[in-house]
Amino acid sequence: MLSVTQMNAFLGNTLQLLRRSIELGGFPPELYEYLSRPKRILAVSIPVRLDGGGLAFFEGYRVQHNDALGPYKGGIRFHPEVSLADDVALATIMTLKDSLAGIPYGGAKGAVRVDPRRLSPRELEELSRGYVRAVAPLIGDELDIPAPDVGTNSQIMAWMADEYSKIAGRNVPGVFTAKPPELWGNPVREYSTGLGVAVIAVYAAKALWGSSDGKTAAIQGFGNVGRWTAYWLEKMGVKVVAVSDVNGTVYKRGGLVAAELIEKNRNARGPDLLSQVAKYNDASIAQDPGAVFGIDADILVPAALENAITEDNVKLVRAKLVVEGANGPTTPEAEKALYERGVVVVPDVLANAGGVVMSYLEWVENLQWVMWDEEETRARLEKIMADNFKRVHQRWVQEKGWTVRDAAYVIAVERIYRAMKARGWI
Ligand code: NAD
Repeated sequence: MLSVTQMNAFLGNTLQLLRRSIELGGFPPELYEYLSRPKRILAVSIPVRLDGGGLAFFEGYRVQHNDALGPYKGGIRFHPEVSLADDVALATIMTLKDSLAGIPYGGAKGAVRVDPRRLSPRELEELSRGYVRAVAPLIGDELDIPAPDVGTNSQIMAWMADEYSKIAGRNVPGVFTAKPPELWGNPVREYSTGLGVAVIAVYAAKALWGSSDGKTAAIQGFGNVGRWTAYWLEKMGVKVVAVSDVNGTVYKRGGLVAAELIEKNRNARGPDLLSQVAKYNDASIAQDPGAVFGIDADILVPAALENAITEDNVKLVRAKLVVEGANGPTTPEAEKALYERGVVVVPDVLANAGGVVMSYLEWVENLQWVMWDEEETRARLEKIMADNFKRVHQRWVQEKGWTVRDAAYVIAVERIYRAMKARGWI
């Protein structure tokens, strides 16, 4: 680790997973020395003139972890508690996620320590443009391509792409992804992560039980990932029996009908959708958001936040298949308990990669100034996700005693290792 980075628990866990996969895969220990350090860290300070008149300074970072496989790629997080160690951990995970997805990217991540909800739209725009000016020398459409993450969205990407284009003196669509369709974005991006989770869940169900038809699913979280996972699972013939958000859990044994409502509310934010789903299905909302874990369903999709399934609630879980829609929703202790009970956990790096795979597709469109229609884009996305699943599954069945996460991480590390070896870095 670089000495400027202060260790924290998140980075510690990330490095532990990295070390384990390097040992399991039989790679040289030197590889750990390489991958436990980011290649470059940029720390910046962004001044914003506040509406009230004062000047505020926000601290930001761009961490470029590894570019053996291609240009750096990773989101920008706006969050009041983000630290450099978090950013290093997230950049490391991006290197692995991009590698596993088979796309030509290395890993990076950006962050600004700010609570975006406390800024006015004008202040937020100034901060977004200021961040781009600060990191501009290090990013570019064939150098480092950021995207949204927690606290950032397609509007922020539009401001950022515009600011970068002003600096370059020409339109540079490929420097940011997940932009709005009006600015060279692709409409599939909105639901790409949920679609990817559903594709992976269906493939995993087929691998475990021979078919996914009529299988049941419970989904924790009804935001972007949770609701589009529900939508696509329903379309793919899986019965979604429960969905939850911070306010509670809606359950209907025979299966909820939600796809139409989700489609109709595709741009809506906030908690109202869950109550609409309850009303439409004549079901009630159990006030306990945690009730979703104890639902009798074949598949459980945690799609809310990290550390959702823990040592404390893992005994409630009745599903035989857990598909991680969120990042880091299962703690290592909970995963161990699930493994011992024969429950299969499909990890985040595989299951929720639909967003970054869609970013890759948007980037390919942007570099060539072409625009695929929704159906064509979706078919490409689904194929990449399915191929990723098959690779991980094949490795997992070969290696006795491995979790699916072990198989995914080892495949990811292997691809990076081969590229580094071919380049003569190691
Ligand atoms: P979001 O803010 O749109 O939705 C989060 C949802 O979780 C909300 O419905 C919220 O009510 C619910 N929630 C929060 N705490 C809960 C609790 N205790 N019980 C039940 N529900 C709870 O966020 P999102 O974009 O859907 O992201 C969700 C997760 O997926 C995050 O871990 C994120 O990092 C990850 N992820 C998102 C994307 C993407 O493209 N949006 C891609 C990859 C990974």
